[in-house]
Amino acid sequence: MAALSRLVLASGNDGKLREFRRLLEPLGIEVVAQGELGIAETDEPHPTFVENALAKARHASRISRLPALADDSGVCVAALSGVPGVQSARYAGEPRSDRRNNEKLIADLAGIDDRRAHYYCVLALMRHGEDPAPILAEGRWDGTIIDAPRGSGGFGYDPFFLDLESGLTGAELPPEQKNARSHRGKAMRALIARLGQET
Ligand code: IMP
Repeated sequence: MAALSRLVLASGNDGKLREFRRLLEPLGIEVVAQGELGIAETDEPHPTFVENALAKARHASRISRLPALADDSGVCVAALSGVPGVQSARYAGEPRSDRRNNEKLIADLAGIDDRRAHYYCVLALMRHGEDPAPILAEGRWDGTIIDAPRGSGGFGYDPFFLDLESGLTGAELPPEQKNARSHRGKAMRALIARLGQET
């Protein structure tokens, strides 16, 4: 693949867009949100992150005729057998709401002592819409779910997700520190390493 200078992000999530721009722009890669090109979000019907990431990247790349990057991510709670998992964005139903998702998660965990959880992210990069060998990368971030929100940064479940190492929630960590620890940051660094091997 010729050096990557522009890609479409197969997501309508502003929090993800901010994080990807912060990670990719220093490398000279322009990130265009699919919404800016009039591309609607596609369905995410699959039971695994990797299948959904591929479906989203393929959809955006076919329509835009640009390389497309998709992220499928979510939080998996040990005591709930990995739920919300792939349903993280719409855990409390439609319309999607971070506030209602968090309320549901805390209600589901009432009376449960085991609060272990991890964020998980799969990235899929399709060089073009029919790419038979997309680049895949994954990342995981371990933490625990707390009952009362802390911090005003991040998005989604961040105010309730406590990073074990720093003792701060995802919403309290400055963006660079969140990227250094997060599932998405780890997956992105793995993806960038793979891109570096492309001729
Ligand atoms: P997706 O767009 O189907 O991949 O859904 C991702 C959902 O997982 C988001 O809407 C959030 O609810 C949650 N999520 C993923 N990554 C993060 C994160 O870094 N912080 C907080 N919530 C996240």
